[in-house]
Amino acid sequence: MIFKKITLFLCALGFSLPVFANLKVFACEPEWAALVNTLGAPHVSVTQATTALQDPHQIEARPSLTAQARRADLIVCTGAELESGWLPMIQAKANNPKILSGQPGYFMAADYVKLLDVPTSLDRIHGDVHASGNPHIQLDPRNYLPIAKALSARLSQLDPKHANAYEANYQHFKQDWEKALISWQQQAKQLQAMPIVVYHHSWIYLNDWLGLKQVSTLEPKPGIPPSASHLSNLYAQIQDQKIKAIICSPYESQNAAKWLSQKTNIPVIVLPFTVGGSKDASDLKALFDVTLAQLSMATAHDHG
Ligand SMILES: [Zn+2]
Repeated sequence: MIFKKITLFLCALGFSLPVFANLKVFACEPEWAALVNTLGAPHVSVTQATTALQDPHQIEARPSLTAQARRADLIVCTGAELESGWLPMIQAKANNPKILSGQPGYFMAADYVKLLDVPTSLDRIHGDVHASGNPHIQLDPRNYLPIAKALSARLSQLDPKHANAYEANYQHFKQDWEKALISWQQQAKQLQAMPIVVYHHSWIYLNDWLGLKQVSTLEPKPGIPPSASHLSNLYAQIQDQKIKAIICSPYESQNAAKWLSQKTNIPVIVLPFTVGGSKDASDLKALFDVTLAQLSMATAHDHG
């Protein structure tokens, strides 16, 4: 009874009791929110800045996002300049020294994997985005193992009291994920060298993992929308390539893809791209289950 009274008294004064003091995490994209929840439960409270239906290159730095970042103990984002159009603005406005670059509360997943497509020259002649290499690392499931290891260590560093729980969660995730990788790689054998056209260079890590053959992109350069002349050149270029699918993410306009599909009979496939990108892609494992199932269906059909 006395404890209850003290509790009410402390709450009235705005104190939070240690038992409720979860680590507050601001995750830029759905895949990192999912990973933090997996590795941190039940000691983390995660806010997810974007959904699968938003283009992570172009997010508005809304006041509500700044408010979330102000309260965060840790931000978990992709990095590699994916969020360079909005995250620095949020960091500057949030006035929270814990989440500034170089602090323990700043975690960029791309720092823990090998980036593909790193330009050898510093000019931006190849487009407006991806000057540090391709940031869409969430589509190679192998990348989650080093990222999860580093993220788990970071959670322990920031919240040492629950280090044992974070380590146990990581070990469980690792075993589970390694088992899933074996089964996915078995299913993926039939996808080797499958020719595809994609909207944006979003799928390069998926291509690398599965051995898909990306013949071209609907964007003439990364971040530049498809033009009529680029599309008609593309149409001529892919005539004899036996393309199996035109791949888009849920947030991309499908107009160009549909135009090409009507002319060629090649199906447009909207892959989930991240957690929540389709009804069934409700967690990290489902993201890859759904992606493989959709690609397997496409490769099984001959579209002439
Ligand atoms: Zn991109």
